[in-house]
Amino acid sequence: MSVTHEEVFAGLRALLGDGAVLVEPHELERYEKGWRYGRGKALAAVRPSGTEEVSRLLSYASSLGLRVVAQGGNTGLVGASTPDESGEMLVLSLERLSRTVEVDPVDRTVTADGGVLLSQLDAALVEHGLLFPIDLGADPSIGGMVATNTGGTRLLRYGDVRQNLLGLEVVLADGTVLDLMRPLRKNNTGLDARQLFVGTSGVFGVVTKAVMRVVPRPVQRVTALVGLSSGAAVLGLLAHLETRLGEVLTAFEAIGAEALVPVFRHQPRLRDPFGGRPPAYTVLVELSSTLDPGRLALDDLLETALAERLEAADGAGITDVFPGKPSELWEIRHHVSESLRQEGEVLAFDISVPRSSLAAFVEAARESVATGWPFVRFCDYGHWGDGGVHVNLVWTPDESRPAAALKAELQPRLYDLAVTRFHGSYSAEHGVGPHNQAFYDLYTPELVREVCRLLRQRLDPAGLLGTVRLG
Ligand SMILES: Cc1cc2nc3c(=O)[nH]c(=O)nc-3n(C[C@H](O)[C@H](O)[C@H](O)COP(=O)(O)OP(=O)(O)OC[C@H]3O[C@@H](n4cnc5c(N)ncnc54)[C@H](O)[C@@H]3O)c2cc1C
Repeated sequence: MSVTHEEVFAGLRALLGDGAVLVEPHELERYEKGWRYGRGKALAAVRPSGTEEVSRLLSYASSLGLRVVAQGGNTGLVGASTPDESGEMLVLSLERLSRTVEVDPVDRTVTADGGVLLSQLDAALVEHGLLFPIDLGADPSIGGMVATNTGGTRLLRYGDVRQNLLGLEVVLADGTVLDLMRPLRKNNTGLDARQLFVGTSGVFGVVTKAVMRVVPRPVQRVTALVGLSSGAAVLGLLAHLETRLGEVLTAFEAIGAEALVPVFRHQPRLRDPFGGRPPAYTVLVELSSTLDPGRLALDDLLETALAERLEAADGAGITDVFPGKPSELWEIRHHVSESLRQEGEVLAFDISVPRSSLAAFVEAARESVATGWPFVRFCDYGHWGDGGVHVNLVWTPDESRPAAALKAELQPRLYDLAVTRFHGSYSAEHGVGPHNQAFYDLYTPELVREVCRLLRQRLDPAGLLGTVRLG
C-alpha cells in the first residue's frame, strides 16, 4: 500500500463520515474476535449505512488494494467473519445497513437490508401473521445467512436459506452493484446468479439487500421430549413420524446423553424430566400448523403417533415421553452448545451424513475418539431430521493437552470418517472458513475449484474480499 494508515482513515472518513470509521484498539476488539474461532487484527472497522456507501467504500478499497472482510452478526462458527492477523484488513460491518424491512403479504416476501438481524425480521413479520422460517439459537444477519446458507432447527420442514431466497443485491469488490432483486418464484432463464453468493462466505461480493420467501405463521405448536435407547431407535422414530404426520412435523432434534447432562448442570432453572438419568438419546419433536387446535388437534396427533410406536416390540426403543411447552423444551435444546462450553475445552465439528447412516457414523466416531483419546468426552447433538450432527469433544483444560494439538489430530480423523467412509460433509451448515479451509481444499473436486477461480478472476481479480479461498 503506497498510502499511510492515517491517509486511509482520512479517505474512509471523507467517504462515509466520522462515525462510520472505527480505528481505536478498544473499538476494534469486538470486530476482531469470532464467536468460536477466528481472532485477528483489523486496520479499521467501517460501517456504511446504505448500498451506495458500500459501493463507494469497496471502490476506494480496491483502488488501494486493501483487503476487506464482511461481517454481519459475527455469529459464524468457522472463523470467516474476522480479519486475519496482518492488521491490514478492513472489517466491513453491516450493522448500520439495517433500516429496510418491507413485508409484502400478497407476494409473501420480505425485503431486508443485508445487516438486518433475524430477530428484527421476525418482529416485522409477526404483525402480518408471517414467518421467515430459518430458526436457530443465535441472531445472525441477512447477509451472513446468505453467505453461509444457514440451516437451523426447522430445515426439515422449510429448507435452508438457499431454498427461501428470491432476490439479492450484491456489491462486487470494485464497487459495482449487481441487482438481482426480482422477487420471482418462477424464473427459468438460464444461470441462477443469486446462488453464486449463497454459501460462498462473501468472497464473490457483499450482500446489501435480499428478498426472502416467508410463510404463514403457525398458530399452534406442540412439542415433546422422547427418550430413546439408541441411535437406531432415533432413526426408526423419525421414519415413523414422517410417515404418520407429514408436513406438520416441523423439527426433530436429537441430543445424546453426554450433551444433555451439562445443560441441567449449568442451567439450574431448567427442569430435568429424566431426574439425572438421561436415556442414550433425547429427541425434541415439534409439530406445528397454521390451523387452530379446533380444526387440527396436534397434541392428539402426536400422542397417537407415539402410542403406535410404543406398541411395537420393546416399545421401538422409546424409554420416556414428556410433552411440554415449546418455549421450555426449546430452551433445553438451545442451551446445549453454551453448557458444553462451561464444561471445559471444546472442539466442535458440524457434520452431516445421509440420514440412514447417522447412527452408524456417530458410533464409529465415538469409538475412534474413545480408542485414541480416552480423556475426551464425546458429546453429540443436532438436527437429525436433516442428517446433521454436531460432534463436540470436551476435555478438562490441561497444559499437556493444548486445543490446537488435539484439533490437529482429531479434525482430520473425524472429517475423513464423515466424508470418505460415510459420504457426508465436513461442514453441514456452518460454511467454509479458516477453521475448515484445509478440508475444503482436500475434498472439493479440482474442477469445482477451477470454476471458482474463474469466477473470482472476473468478480474480484485482486482477491480482496474475505479470508476464504474457494479456488
Ligand atoms: C449459538 C449458535 C447457534 C447456531 N446455530 C446454527 C444453526 O442451527 N444452523 C446454522 O446454519 N448455523 C448456526 N449457527 C451459525 C451462524 O449463526 C450462521 O453461520 C449465521 O448465518 C452467520 O450469520 P452472521 O450474520 O452472524 O454472519 P457473520 O458471522 O458475521 O459472517 C459469516 C460469514 O458470512 C460473511 N458475511 C457476513 N455478512 C455478509 C454480507 N452482508 N455479505 C457477504 N458476506 C457476508 C462473512 O464474511 C463470513 O464469511 C449458530 C451460531 C451460534 C453462535
